[in-house]
Amino acid sequence: MSAAQAQQPAPYKKVALIGLGLIASSIFWAMRRAGMAAEVSGYARSEATRDTARRLGLCDTVCDSAIEAVEGADLVILCVPVGVMGAVAAEIAPHLAKGATVTDVGSVKKSVIEHVAPHIPEGVDFVPAHPMAGTEHSGPDSGFASLFDNRWCLIVPGDAREEAVLRLEAFWQALGTNTERMEVEHHDQVCAVVSHIPHLIAYTMVGVADDLRRVSDQEVIKFSAAGFRDFTRIAASDPTMWRDVFLENKEATLEILGRFAEELFVLQRAIRSGDGDHLFDYFTRTRAIRRGIIEAGQDTDAPDFGRGKRE
Ligand code: NAP
Repeated sequence: MSAAQAQQPAPYKKVALIGLGLIASSIFWAMRRAGMAAEVSGYARSEATRDTARRLGLCDTVCDSAIEAVEGADLVILCVPVGVMGAVAAEIAPHLAKGATVTDVGSVKKSVIEHVAPHIPEGVDFVPAHPMAGTEHSGPDSGFASLFDNRWCLIVPGDAREEAVLRLEAFWQALGTNTERMEVEHHDQVCAVVSHIPHLIAYTMVGVADDLRRVSDQEVIKFSAAGFRDFTRIAASDPTMWRDVFLENKEATLEILGRFAEELFVLQRAIRSGDGDHLFDYFTRTRAIRRGIIEAGQDTDAPDFGRGKRE
């Protein structure tokens, strides 16, 4: 065994996916693409989702209970909406194997930690994580193997043992993603800026257009330009997931929303008073940010391979 191999954390032997939607199914296909040998068990709340998962060949075993799915697993990944993470953790906690790691993929970290951590028994590590990748689709047939490629998975290690954190980082890196550790409040604020508030703005803009449509005989839809079309794609995201994100990341989203409103008023005043210099300088600054994103290779949307495709 080489020195490099000796330093590699041991791969997991059995992975349990609790929740079988976009993120869980993408994890499964990415694991298979990476050639990971781990046995994979899965569980979803409804029989319809479990049946779809079985038909798609998602997981080696699709179980009829979360308790059954976590039996003997050394990695348990909670892939359910953030509002139900705590209830799911409470249900599986007494059945977790000693030495196992529990992680999650929730878009919010502070509230998930508050709701999940108290249930984690001694001898089990909880390593919260958040893969920063997604599409507007949901459900077991929406996942694909390349969803995480070249994206970032943010890890909020808390009190977990270093060994458990390194092992989870190696897992995510093998799925194609980069990893970075982050402090919990910082995570929730960064995500409010780069993901949560942009979704809220898209929901709002599409709502405004929907109201306008009633007075302008569908022109808003008929002539919708690229900017608005992008908003409608984002605003098609899963209502349950996004309701939970805003309710569970209240503090950070309200703070960023306040700042957004302040900026908007300044721009509104510049338009009203004809302050072209202000508008030009502002748009020049924001254009530079876009260039930075392109240079970092993060400019493309997650490729939409259509529902149910695995590569
Ligand atoms: P999804 O496609 O809607 O799947 C959610 C899964 O959770 C479904 O299998 C659903 O089962 C199951 N579920 C819902 N409530 C449950 C409950 N009470 N008990 C057990 N299972 C339950 O969602 P997703 O997009 O994969 O999101 C999952 C998590 O990833 C969320 O926490 C989200 O914040 C996070 N995340 C999402 C994205 C994204 O862009 N989508 C990106 C990064 C992180 P049924 O189908 O049977 O209801």
